[in-house]
Amino acid sequence: MKQPCAIISGARGQDASYLAEILLEKNYRVVGINRRSSARDSANWRIAHLMSNPNYIVELGDITDSGSINRIVATYQPDEFYNLAAQSFVGASWNEPYHTLIVNAGGVVNCLEALRQVKPDTKFYQASTSELYGKVQETPQTETTPFYPRSPYGFAKLAGYWATVNYRESYGIHATNGILFNHESPRRGLEFVTRKITDAAAKIKLGIPTGYTKRADELPLGNIESKRDWGHSRDFMQAAWLMLQEEVPNDYVVATGKLHSIRDLLDKAFGHLGLDWRNHVTKDEKFWRPAEVDLLLGDPTKIKKLLGWEPSYNFHALVVDMVDSDLRRLRGKA
Ligand code: NDP
Ligand code: GDP
Repeated sequence: MKQPCAIISGARGQDASYLAEILLEKNYRVVGINRRSSARDSANWRIAHLMSNPNYIVELGDITDSGSINRIVATYQPDEFYNLAAQSFVGASWNEPYHTLIVNAGGVVNCLEALRQVKPDTKFYQASTSELYGKVQETPQTETTPFYPRSPYGFAKLAGYWATVNYRESYGIHATNGILFNHESPRRGLEFVTRKITDAAAKIKLGIPTGYTKRADELPLGNIESKRDWGHSRDFMQAAWLMLQEEVPNDYVVATGKLHSIRDLLDKAFGHLGLDWRNHVTKDEKFWRPAEVDLLLGDPTKIKKLLGWEPSYNFHALVVDMVDSDLRRLRGKA
């Protein structure tokens, strides 16, 4: 049997690192696309362990540069293309709205066009998001819940979602949207609230300054009333792979179906280390957003029924995994 080939854009991101591991275990040839970084070695910390694998290739490319994507598709003739590249931080999308739009919407079109022009039988996965639901119109959210994005990140991803549907309907491309609810891991970026909290809790436990203010044990946060459906990135990338194994392209919600508040997250992360977050958390306006998404709760019935997907991490296991990993990483620095 011919060795399958998959391209993953945004290769040094959280999700791409887990997806590459999953595909390499299945004997794929994996081609990761990374844009240029002046800090190449430190930027690649999530995929450093994969670099010596002969089935793992890294190509320089940027999804806003159609020439680079066309070249990579033409060179590798992939069976599957996972578009995970994005300006992925909602908070930053108000600071860089146009950049966010160009990457999260225009970049999707570039990937789809490359496939249409060069290899139209490639199966395409678009990293869509629960942020499409924004100001939620019903709870829990399903594949048929109307969208109401609340940020430049959200409205840019909405265009990416519809581009994916449109290329499926216009050209018959096997294009799928994974509408993924928040998913985290020890590899999550430090600016996201989960990792910000687990990193700070571990630092406070070890007596390392959190680094936010002059007070060494302070954790400034924004709106701690919001609620999310948090899963594990590895489980969610397993779902992304399952979607592209289907004969017919479709769109799926991926979520745990369980709702937790940031207060629950604080209780769990600080409690795991015998700490009380109330002694450390302060409110800082800087972390409030111009428009908030109060609650996201997904209904994963469709993917469970049709693809037999089940998450292996619950909220407790996820938070403990993240806190323990931050403790291990920081111990050497204490
Ligand atoms: P990350 O931010 O960890 O990874 C995104 C990657 O995309 C980064 O490595 C980044 O590169 C890269 N990237 C950004 N712009 C470009 C570009 N123009 N060309 C090429 N690469 C680029 O995010 P996640 O792994 O968490 O998320 C993966 C995808 O899933 C994203 O599209 C995100 O929006 C989406 N998503 C994520 C959710 C989550 O909860 N994690 C929920 C729903 C959707 P660099 O390292 O150089 O910055
Ligand atoms: P998002 O759901 O993709 O926006 O993921 P985040 O982890 O960035 O934010 C989740 C929720 O936490 C949002 O409602 C934020 O407003 C809220 N939040 C509260 N304080 C903070 C903070 O200090 N940093 C971040 N990133 N989010 C915060």
